[in-house]
Amino acid sequence: MHPRLIAPGALAAASVLLAIPASAASVSPGAPGIGDPYYPAYGNGGYDVSHYDLRLKYQPATDALEGTATILARTTQDLSRFDLDFLLDVDEVRVNGARAAFAASGEHELEITPRTPLAQGTAVTVVVRYHGIPSSKQAYGFTSWHRTPDGGVGANEPEAAWWWFPGNDHPRDKATFDVSVQVPDGTQALSNGTLQSTVSRLGWTRYSWRSDKPQATYLATLAVGRFDLTTGTTESGIPVVNAYSKDLGAQAGAARASIERTGEIADWLSGYFGPYPFNALGGYVPNTTTGYALETQTRPYYSPRQFANGSNTSVVVHELAHQWYGDLVSVAGWKDIWINEGFARYAQWLWSEHEGEGTAQELADYAYASRPADDPFWTVRPGDPGPENQFHIAVYDRGALALQALRNEIGDDAFFTVLKGWPQRYAHGNATVADFRGYAEEVSGASLGTLFDTWLFQPSKPTASAARTVSLVPAEAAPARPRSWQRIAATNGVHEH
Ligand SMILES: [Zn+2]
Repeated sequence: MHPRLIAPGALAAASVLLAIPASAASVSPGAPGIGDPYYPAYGNGGYDVSHYDLRLKYQPATDALEGTATILARTTQDLSRFDLDFLLDVDEVRVNGARAAFAASGEHELEITPRTPLAQGTAVTVVVRYHGIPSSKQAYGFTSWHRTPDGGVGANEPEAAWWWFPGNDHPRDKATFDVSVQVPDGTQALSNGTLQSTVSRLGWTRYSWRSDKPQATYLATLAVGRFDLTTGTTESGIPVVNAYSKDLGAQAGAARASIERTGEIADWLSGYFGPYPFNALGGYVPNTTTGYALETQTRPYYSPRQFANGSNTSVVVHELAHQWYGDLVSVAGWKDIWINEGFARYAQWLWSEHEGEGTAQELADYAYASRPADDPFWTVRPGDPGPENQFHIAVYDRGALALQALRNEIGDDAFFTVLKGWPQRYAHGNATVADFRGYAEEVSGASLGTLFDTWLFQPSKPTASAARTVSLVPAEAAPARPRSWQRIAATNGVHEH
């Protein structure tokens, strides 16, 4: 695959064999995937990243991106070779300072062969110099890079990184990020966290952003375009930076009327979930044609379409709820998506109650009663929905319904203790649906196996008697539709491939 370096590589392997034979005997390539059964090629094996330093330059007129990624990692096995996930064109790779061989493989793999094998448990610095037109690249027939009239945006789930930086693209490998982007004067570059500096020189402006807490790669975002920025500080003291494309047209007022409430909503959510976990807040609305929103860390992405019917605080509640449920505590595998979406949807129900537009109980009753038993909705198992149904509406609505069932089973005191305690228990880490059940059992002292199985894992509608057991309205009744129902449904984050 890379004949140029076969001879030096063989020599290097031979010398290592002489020096440390035990280690060399176990040297092998890192796996091309981290081991997620939903997405076997996502992430990689053999190392763990602690930091990404991305120094980029982007030309909005041509969608040309170039830059250098410096990746700090530690090996978790003896490595002859390892992969990054990436789609752009690579010019050079260095591993611990020495030029390394590289080759593209699979849908989005960049195979890197260091000059000498890497021993397990050692620090590794990988430098990747690259360039390319992100909008020209596809994997599996789709792109997560959104070209706009004034630039481009990388934001999608579960994958967006491949189009703008090389990495270990799975939530299980979180890292801190410095993202520094040079763009033509008059254009802004947005990313996560705090804006460390803005420097203009010779017609170009460099925006340097820092996300100083562990962040999953899909939660990293880059947006370049012509934006109006607003800044502020929440009542609890968190700095807020919001950004709105200058081309939002009729959506501009409603977008601002929603996202300017970010600080208020984050403070409100902290009453349920505990202190806001990061040192920056905000939201941004580029002029994309997508329909979804995404919980990019500290600074969610919102499609203009979310504001087509006026202000939409519900979607802001959803994305900010993810800062605790999804970003601070991330899925261990993509099958665990319920620990993100069930809770973000439930937060929208709590907000509806706060706004006097229907209580969480009323929304749960309606969610249960409004779908007949033969609705395919009930065949989706929110606790393990399968990759094809990862973002199915059932993960959200049946997922939130399961939380109301849990609340009624263990009582408000235990339930809200769980809601607030969980983000702390797994802060900056990963967890599974089973971990959540274990934590809820620990806090409540209840045995919850049957409840979780009924509401999250059975491919059928829970029976009327199961509903009655947890104080939900059984199927034969027809509760009124809460006023917020339609508005919440309009925020359903449709995952676009
Ligand atoms: Zn969500």
